[in-house]
Amino acid sequence: MESQIKKIHEQLVSKEITCSDLVQQKLALLKENKYNTVNSLLEITALEKAAAVDAKIANGESIGLLEGIPFGIKDVYMVQGTTTTASSKMLENYKSAYTATAIQKLLDAGAIPLVKENCDSFGHGSSSENTIFGAVKNAINPDLVGGGSSGGSAVNVAKEYTVFSIGGDTGGSIRQPAGYNNIYGLKPSYGRISRYGLMAYASSTDCVGPLAKSIEDIRIVLNTMSGKDAKDQTTVASEDITAEEIKNGSNTNTVGYFKNFIEGDAIDAKVKADFVASIDKLKAQGIEVKELDFFKGNTLVSTYYTLAMAETASNLSRLDGTNYGNRIEAENLIETYAVTRSESFSEESKRRIVGGNQVLSQGFSDAIYLKGLELRDQIAANFEEDFKEVDVILSPVTPGAPPKIGDSLKDPHAMYLSDAYTVGFSLGQLPTLTVPQGTDTGLQITAAKNKENKILKFANFLKDTL
Ligand code: GLN
Repeated sequence: MESQIKKIHEQLVSKEITCSDLVQQKLALLKENKYNTVNSLLEITALEKAAAVDAKIANGESIGLLEGIPFGIKDVYMVQGTTTTASSKMLENYKSAYTATAIQKLLDAGAIPLVKENCDSFGHGSSSENTIFGAVKNAINPDLVGGGSSGGSAVNVAKEYTVFSIGGDTGGSIRQPAGYNNIYGLKPSYGRISRYGLMAYASSTDCVGPLAKSIEDIRIVLNTMSGKDAKDQTTVASEDITAEEIKNGSNTNTVGYFKNFIEGDAIDAKVKADFVASIDKLKAQGIEVKELDFFKGNTLVSTYYTLAMAETASNLSRLDGTNYGNRIEAENLIETYAVTRSESFSEESKRRIVGGNQVLSQGFSDAIYLKGLELRDQIAANFEEDFKEVDVILSPVTPGAPPKIGDSLKDPHAMYLSDAYTVGFSLGQLPTLTVPQGTDTGLQITAAKNKENKILKFANFLKDTL
């Protein structure tokens, strides 16, 4: 699809549409929608901002590319004056005191936030069913899950309720719902976009990223949000990616894929056949394709969940009803903590907090947590070797189709295993883009750290090839 941002920009500038009408239409769609994508609407501020854009245009002033473009925000980002719930009972009434850096950059560029979007509570999940706002329904088949954890964001983009949305990806939460709803979703390199103001899940893999309907829109939003931030010491400076450098020109990429991802019985037969057919098409185009060895899905999933649970147990310890969170009073302070946390965290979040504290505790941490860190280093080293041989790695996003609503809640272990193809790239802190092609749940393109330009260029090539 062409860039929706550029299309709307031209319509605004040529006065074919007004920003107020556009924002009103999108708000109406969000209000009526039956997919459970909305935690709260930012109606008043959105309409005010739209009126200001219209006034500027009426005045003959020029507007920036993102000015007046309506977008959505996963409900884990601080936006001053809005409620940031993380889809949890614990923070049902929590008002953000400040605005996340990534969001502030979009606001500075004039983009208009419409909605705080439904997601799995604290990013804990792969289906957007772990939420107090009702399970997010899939944009293509509402009997299926919207994917997670940024499910509301993906469905809003797929249904065109928002032009783009900002999700969060710790172990796949942008890429997997993008795949389940047939849109683009980018997890940038760790550190490219500031995490300041993103509610922390697992700080060592948390990434801010865009979901959109075109590669061009992903590029525009990525450029706007990127950059070093004094408030997040893990950020690095990066150059803007130009439209020119990612055009599909002569393509000399060498493509790798993990043999073990498509062998064995974890992968659905159709996903496998479609993936193999995509590889064959690349070969037919004269692209050099290499098979690579990688860690088993089970190893990746257990390493990721060991570390993610440990980090989330630590990050969420401040939600005790005294520092943060809805307080439930009990007989004494200890009891107050216990009751507040037992009543206000979901089953899934509690499972992770208990698991995380266990792997961090004396007697277990050497055997489990430290082992996880060691494996993570091995995974990173493996990637380093791979990128000496290939420019990009192609993989399915998920082993199978989106589950029916209700199924993942019954079988959390199966849900964890469905993350087998996304979590490895998170542990490697590598940039990875989901493209809505190749298999029913898309393909992932991964490159070496900070090589987002290679990924976007290859995505443009795939768009014309597959
Ligand atoms: N499904 C993975 C998890 O539950 C990833 C979630 C995420 O990226 N926030 O941890």
